[in-house]
Amino acid sequence: MLRVNENYLKLRGSYLFSEIAKRVAAFKDSHPEARLVRLGIGDVTRPLTKSIISSLHHSVDEMAQEETFRGYAPDLGYAFLRETIAQEVYAKRRCEIAADEIFVSDGAKSDLGNLAEIFAESCRVAITDPVYPVYVDSNVMAGRAGSFNESTSQWDRLTYLPTTAENSFVPALPDTELDLIYICSPNNPTGTALRLAELQQIVDYAIAHHSVILFDAAYEAYISESDIPHSIYECQGARQCAIEVRSFSKNAGFTGLRLGYTVIPKELKDAEGHSIHAIWARRHGTKYNGAPYLVQRAGQAVYSPEGQQEVQELVSYYMHNAKLIREGLSHCGYTVYGGVNAPYIWLKVPEGLSSWAFFDRLLHEAQVVGTPGLGFGPSGEGYLRLTAFSTPENTEEALKRIAAMG
Ligand code: PLP
Repeated sequence: MLRVNENYLKLRGSYLFSEIAKRVAAFKDSHPEARLVRLGIGDVTRPLTKSIISSLHHSVDEMAQEETFRGYAPDLGYAFLRETIAQEVYAKRRCEIAADEIFVSDGAKSDLGNLAEIFAESCRVAITDPVYPVYVDSNVMAGRAGSFNESTSQWDRLTYLPTTAENSFVPALPDTELDLIYICSPNNPTGTALRLAELQQIVDYAIAHHSVILFDAAYEAYISESDIPHSIYECQGARQCAIEVRSFSKNAGFTGLRLGYTVIPKELKDAEGHSIHAIWARRHGTKYNGAPYLVQRAGQAVYSPEGQQEVQELVSYYMHNAKLIREGLSHCGYTVYGGVNAPYIWLKVPEGLSSWAFFDRLLHEAQVVGTPGLGFGPSGEGYLRLTAFSTPENTEEALKRIAAMG
């Protein structure tokens, strides 16, 4: 009898963004003249930079010549890119990561989703709350989340680690055993980041409990403070317990081009001594045929001196917007978090309002679209996310309108 994987039937609808779209569409129907300012989306807005475009043009020409044409890419990524990453990202920060521990892919989302596949269904998973929804859904698909409890808005086999203003956005680890721990720093959605000593505590826990940390560093380029680690491998012992996932989306604007990578140190083993590196290599080689040559060359160009200068300019552009939002909202009396080491601002909604009620107020009274915190998990209630991925003009316009709301 043909049947689909029943775990997929447990998935919740993508309620958050469809509900936002529905409310925005209803508002636009009744207010066709309104000019909305959208600060809800986590996608970049600036075009690709000069050195990326010139690298792409050059590789397109290579593909047109018999001598330089490339077919299938190596499964795990071209050596030129893996060696560049090992040198420019890790050796420069004194992290001991070899080129053959880096697996090139089409982005962090695919890797984070696919990694859930290689661990046993029985593994006990912890996620911070609120959280980037991919970690939860990929574990639902892998049959590891249990059932959804409507009254608590939680999956009963997942361990939720609240990260809120009450604990300064640092998750407290439980006494119970965990096998997989998802950590995102700098964090989407809270915009906050863990300091080295805070991340080291999570690494120490993982070593003591033989757990694996899945560390999502997609927003690493936005770190501005010196005591925030750029890589989990800056922590002692992390090679024994951590997988790091990186993206070219937010630093170099590759959201449409697609490129990312995952680092799995060779000493990472499960409880029976199986190499996680070897299993991921087997999975990657079987189910993936490599990111395009053109895109991997463009990724290499990100690490050229010009490419790095351009990344700095992009980050400064968005972080200028983040600063405008942070300062503008604080000036209006709001409590805000994030926006210093990440392009997200996490706003505490006024007492007595839910995150959806405040979303509606912003939409109706300021024509500004944010993202209600509850959509990222139960501990997101009482917060709203605004993003810096806009123009300074739109950001300033949004702030002017929010200030006028009173
Ligand atoms: N990780 C986090 C925390 C994100 O917010 C996003 C995208 O918004 C991703 C990963 C996805 O990155 P990529 O574009 O490389 O798939």
